[in-house]
Amino acid sequence: MKAFFIEKPHVGIVRETEIPVPADDEILLEVKAAGVCGTDVHIYKGEYFGSYPRIPGHEFSGIIAGIGKGVTKFKVGQRVAADPNIFCEACDACKENRQNFCVDMHAVGVTRHGAFAQYLTVPERCVFDISDISFTEASMVEPLACVVYGQEKAGIPLGSSVLIFGAGPIGLMHAQLAGLNGAACVTVVDLFEDKLALAKKLGADYTYTSAEFEKLGLVNSFEVVIDCTGVPKVIENEIKYVKDSGTILFFGVCPDNSALTINPYEVFKRELKLCGSFALKKTFGKAIAIARSGKINLTDLVDKKLLLEEAPKLFEEIMSGNSGLKTIFYPNGTEK
Ligand SMILES: [Zn+2]
Ligand SMILES: [Zn+2]
Repeated sequence: MKAFFIEKPHVGIVRETEIPVPADDEILLEVKAAGVCGTDVHIYKGEYFGSYPRIPGHEFSGIIAGIGKGVTKFKVGQRVAADPNIFCEACDACKENRQNFCVDMHAVGVTRHGAFAQYLTVPERCVFDISDISFTEASMVEPLACVVYGQEKAGIPLGSSVLIFGAGPIGLMHAQLAGLNGAACVTVVDLFEDKLALAKKLGADYTYTSAEFEKLGLVNSFEVVIDCTGVPKVIENEIKYVKDSGTILFFGVCPDNSALTINPYEVFKRELKLCGSFALKKTFGKAIAIARSGKINLTDLVDKKLLLEEAPKLFEEIMSGNSGLKTIFYPNGTEK
């Protein structure tokens, strides 16, 4: 089979390799669609704790092409996606239902080979039937499941006003989900007009460029502010927009050596809640249900549909600062 390997930091090539053999408790998946995400870029850049060479890709869907002899719940030919996080379910964190802090966590496309390949293996317990949603939509269930988890952590009060900074694929998922979660008004802020136009099309009530939004002076106005930029300076500026007793959700990933200047008196006096959310936990099935409902548009978040052969060029482009929306690879040719 063909696969995109990151041989070492900044070196990515497509080459032939053996089709993996599923262990007794695993399925073999023919990959139909696989999304590119920031984690893949971190592995490409060498900002990663695992080993090389690595086939990245943890957002994927496909058709079951083979099953290990212990697999009981799935059969060959089934259309599925999988939660890439493999929790041990035996450590203290797992036993306390904090699986995303599992001390023995493995992840498809991170600590083992992922979906930028024609085939991959996944433990049966991570696999979900995707029913009739498209492979492209199903490849976006993983990031959607992270967004669902983030909003579960933050809590969106019914009838609230929600402010979202950053209108990339994740911000646009948050904007749509906030409405489903009961927000009465969703405002999206970004630097780029084209992204804001898409936010509007996908149901945001108000959209503003950062400069326009600053001028409105809507301080102390939003029950929930969701940061999808991961830029510390932007986050510092967002805090003033949170309503008294409201919540700011840190969703965009900041550099791990960064720092914020926050006035703790303001946190105290205004009863602000600073909320984090890391990866996902048991929200994959919910995200599939939301995708199936048709109440969230995932298809329009895709701006590039590529063959695997185009992966090396894409990663070079990302290094030179290209920031689009979602890129999906089709390792077996077409989406069908
Ligand atoms: Zn991801
Ligand atoms: Zn564990």
